[in-house]
Amino acid sequence: MQRVHAKKFLGQHFLKDLNVAQRIAETTYKGQSDQVPSTEKVRVLEIGPGMGVLTQFLLKDPNIQLTAIEIDRESVAYLKEWYPELHLIEGDFLKLDLNILYPEGEFNVIGNYPYNISSQIFFKVLEYKDRIPVCSGMIQKEVAERIASKPGKKAYGILSVLLQAYYDIEYLFTVDEYVFNPPPKVKSAVIRMTRNKRRRLECDEELFKTVVKTAFNQRRKQMRNSLKGLVNPTTEGEENQRLEFFLTRRPEQLSVEEFIELTNLIEKSHE
Ligand code: SAH
Repeated sequence: MQRVHAKKFLGQHFLKDLNVAQRIAETTYKGQSDQVPSTEKVRVLEIGPGMGVLTQFLLKDPNIQLTAIEIDRESVAYLKEWYPELHLIEGDFLKLDLNILYPEGEFNVIGNYPYNISSQIFFKVLEYKDRIPVCSGMIQKEVAERIASKPGKKAYGILSVLLQAYYDIEYLFTVDEYVFNPPPKVKSAVIRMTRNKRRRLECDEELFKTVVKTAFNQRRKQMRNSLKGLVNPTTEGEENQRLEFFLTRRPEQLSVEEFIELTNLIEKSHE
């Protein structure tokens, strides 16, 4: 059977290097090594298997129960021919109802992801965060740096804060463009996100998201300007000093904990 013709609009860059593919496949359950060993298989969902370069290693692993979702009809035909044993869904991950695929319990997410929708994939992972203990795989290096970035760095932004609130991030390794066909214009990196111990944020979680997004919309500005619409301007009292302090800062200077504190102060300003 013919190889799949790479389509740019689907972010198709097929990995050629089997060694890299194997190393990516191995990222999925190493992150859980500190947990009690279980005799149950780890359920893993692979996004965008393409021609199955990662898939073959995941299928071989006796500890993994694999499902894959692929949007490209040509890739689906290829996978059905070469991996008839694979549980494969033809469709768009962003539209997939994960509660139907997995009515209960946990599952990991993995992929050499379509780079053009990687942020959207991670926002969807966040929606299911309490059921996804590990999300790992390959993305554009620049996005990986943003996700893993600590406060005070240029790369620190919305994705860093929202993901780090719930996941521990590991930047595992960098991958050069020439191991892909066709080579992408950017470098790539493999990361692993492991769900942290924070079940709920100690603040209104919806307001937290709004505060983070609004603040970073104008990342060069003092938050006094960007958060104007969210803070009650008439607030007074003890706690105000702390709020004042935050409002003189720029969003990239705040840690996850400080964003939680700021969210609570903003909520209080309306009492
Ligand atoms: N994992 C393969 C392919 C990577 S390219 C490899 O390493 O070689 C990204 C893959 O994601 C392509 O196969 C593309 O068709 C698929 N894809 C793109 N958008 C998708 C979506 N919304 N849902 C599922 N798969 C998608």
